[in-house]
Amino acid sequence: MKIIVIPGDGIGPETMSVAIDALEIVDKKFNLGLDLQHDIAGHDSLKKYGTTIHEGLLESVKSADGLILGPMATYDFKDESKGEINPSKFFRKSLDLFANIRPAKTYPGSGTQYKPLDLVVVRENTEGFYADRNVESGGSEMLITPDVVVSLRRITRPCCERIARAAFELAMTRKKHVTIVHKANVLRIGDGMFIDACHAVAREFPEVVVDDVIVDAMMAHVVRAPERYDVIVTTNMFGDILSDLTAELAGSLGLAASINAGTHYGMAQAAHGSAPDIAGQNIANPFSQVISASMLLAWYGQRKNKPAFIEASKALNEAVAQAIAAGEATRDVGGRLGTKETGQALSARLLKN
Ligand code: NAD
Repeated sequence: MKIIVIPGDGIGPETMSVAIDALEIVDKKFNLGLDLQHDIAGHDSLKKYGTTIHEGLLESVKSADGLILGPMATYDFKDESKGEINPSKFFRKSLDLFANIRPAKTYPGSGTQYKPLDLVVVRENTEGFYADRNVESGGSEMLITPDVVVSLRRITRPCCERIARAAFELAMTRKKHVTIVHKANVLRIGDGMFIDACHAVAREFPEVVVDDVIVDAMMAHVVRAPERYDVIVTTNMFGDILSDLTAELAGSLGLAASINAGTHYGMAQAAHGSAPDIAGQNIANPFSQVISASMLLAWYGQRKNKPAFIEASKALNEAVAQAIAAGEATRDVGGRLGTKETGQALSARLLKN
């Protein structure tokens, strides 16, 4: 499996280094034959090539079996004409990575004060309110007069149906329960169509129980009674916001793993950003990056019917869970170690397990 690895901005290089060490260990242990090829994007690339996405990078990623993208300092990249392309958007749009799968699971020992949860947010990743990706070219946010801005939201039936199908297929491997999160009381036409499309797909999965919740109420319900939810399917921006909340309820944004999957490509990327407030301090939690990489192995193993990749993914998840329970983790999840030391302890555990 050829994987392009891009460390990203801010805390990216610190957390990615831990993920790479962990991958190299499971590669040997499970005889995976990983070919990790290192590249750059974001600030490193802007400095070196004058653009956040250098020439040839997309082709290189397309020729690989997967991409691990570190967190990007998206907010810094404002002007595409100056080479400041948002790399996360670039890969999601160019590779049509329509399903952003964001699990949130409470790990014993993580010190969270909230109720235990184990759910997955399935977020549509290519349209909705995201003005940088919901039109063929250019952006869909317009300055009409110096004081008037119009931002368009795009919702299409095929995109609703494919994200719904991803959610229902996932639900069949879990508790067979899908919750549709929407704002159809206000966005009647767009979210009305989203709900309709989800129910149409639901008919293909008669064993799955379906309900729906309005997004604002969901923010309260998921805090108060997270045990009610298993797979949550929603549009782009609601999923982006809800998944940060569920990650924090599970213990920390530092556990927020995700995979961005399309029909042909998969990209592992932690759900959080580049965390400039803690970058370079050896305190960032690397587990979001490790679990994201693990999700990519599982995704590949399922597609190619290669059980060793699924076993390797399980081994990584198990080692992370044990590390958190043992306090061999960063402070945000109740541990006592720095990023690097957390990585060393995880490597030792993976070798020993
Ligand atoms: P952020 O997600 O980077 O950080 C939010 C808070 O969570 C911060 O206090 C941070 O210290 C903490 N945090 C994040 N990851 C952590 C980790 N692994 N361990 C411990 N604590 C962690 O959000 P932000 O500060 O609003 O954004 C910073 C930059 O990241 C911005 O440029 C933003 O646009 C970008 N961003 C990128 C992505 C992405 O690449 N997928 C996602 C979100 C934000």
